[in-house]
Amino acid sequence: MTKRLPQLADKHDCTGCMACVGACRVGALTMQMRVDGHGYPSLDAKKCVNCLSCENVCQSIKRFKGCNDLNLSKPYAVWANDDQLRFYSTSGGFAAAVSKSVVEKGDGVVGVSFDGRKASHIFVENVDDIKQLQGSKYVWSDASAAYQIISDNLFKRRVLFIGTGCQVAGVLSCFTNHPNRERLYTIDLICGGVPSDLLMEIYRKEHPEIEAISSFRTKRIYEMKGIIDGEEIVLPKKSLPLMGFCAEQTMRYICYDCPFSFAHRHSDITIGDLWGESAPVEQREKGVSLVIAHTKKGRQLIQEADVTIRTLEWRDILASNKRLVYGHTPMTCLRKNLVYNYIRKDATAFARLYGFTSSPKHIGGFIMRVWYYLRRKVEEKKSRIAISKLLSKSANK
Ligand SMILES: Cc1cc2nc3c(=O)[nH]c(=O)nc-3n(C[C@H](O)[C@H](O)[C@H](O)COP(=O)(O)OP(=O)(O)OC[C@H]3O[C@@H](n4cnc5c(N)ncnc54)[C@H](O)[C@@H]3O)c2cc1C
Repeated sequence: MTKRLPQLADKHDCTGCMACVGACRVGALTMQMRVDGHGYPSLDAKKCVNCLSCENVCQSIKRFKGCNDLNLSKPYAVWANDDQLRFYSTSGGFAAAVSKSVVEKGDGVVGVSFDGRKASHIFVENVDDIKQLQGSKYVWSDASAAYQIISDNLFKRRVLFIGTGCQVAGVLSCFTNHPNRERLYTIDLICGGVPSDLLMEIYRKEHPEIEAISSFRTKRIYEMKGIIDGEEIVLPKKSLPLMGFCAEQTMRYICYDCPFSFAHRHSDITIGDLWGESAPVEQREKGVSLVIAHTKKGRQLIQEADVTIRTLEWRDILASNKRLVYGHTPMTCLRKNLVYNYIRKDATAFARLYGFTSSPKHIGGFIMRVWYYLRRKVEEKKSRIAISKLLSKSANK
């Protein structure tokens, strides 16, 4: 039989989960940042032994998409009882409370840390290190190192992996047949998509005085904090990384039609922000996590953590958290022209286009902005219809 090179997902389908890199036993695949500011696997054909393990895990990710049967999973409002943990988290501090209970039992957590410039998955086995994982980093995280860490640890203890839906699918795809698969626990986030690193790169070039970005948001407001002269300060509201994240025009192609936005997922738990009226009034100020348990292992993790739990109804949460089940985001031609605009435009013009701050004076960018808002309205209407169909289908069961 003729040997062939593996066929991995192309740039339109690649989620950046890096399962292929994790599956490669000869180091022929590595993560490389491409010119559009997203990480993709890169193959060294000379090292490749044509075993196709990478291709197999890449293909099998599709098996972990989930479904929208609302009777299979259960949503809860949750907050950490430890106020300190809760304070430094994005919403109710559920992820930190679960991580704490896991490491206290001698097990390990693989989650996302941000070094001030880049995000990556790291391994945590001490309570003191959990703070590195706290808080949402609104950038893509490189999970390529996570696979070896999980593989090394599953032989001796439980490992909890926390990441986006596609990253969890990558991990499940890699470890489904592992002899200690039962020790692997996974939590995925409700995720609206990851923006390009170009946003951060341009912003950092424009602001060399910022030594590091220390935070992306508080409980209620999207505002970045940075370190300048050794001191943490709130950065101006219209910072490109956050404006660009909210404008959604630099995301990975696959994020515009996320294949992992389902009510029932293959992870053990899904977490997000509990927005709207369903969070208890007296708890809103401190933040409340939306926690959806999909499996027995997920319910076990919730019970083990030092948290307060309130049960929720699907009808109360889906309207204010559509992204949980609706993965479509309108894409304008700005995304297709991202690299071109990055090369051709100066930083101010780029920020205007991709932070959606163009005024009618800048006609091209302004038209894109208006067009996007109109498309978004259409998508919102479609998501409302999809959600009400889902709710009535589950009520009739
Ligand atoms: C890119 C992105 C988009 C999101 N979009 C939504 C949304 O549309 N709706 C919604 O309800 N919630 C969204 N979230 C999740 C939300 O911001 C909170 O993470 C969630 O509410 C959990 O809060 P927490 O207080 O329990 O834990 P947190 O302190 O926020 O920590 C949660 C965990 O998230 C992981 N994490 C942080 N950044 C990343 C990253 N870049 N990639 C992968 N994992 C990461 C960390 O490992 C940490 O353990 C998003 C998060 C990210 C990173």
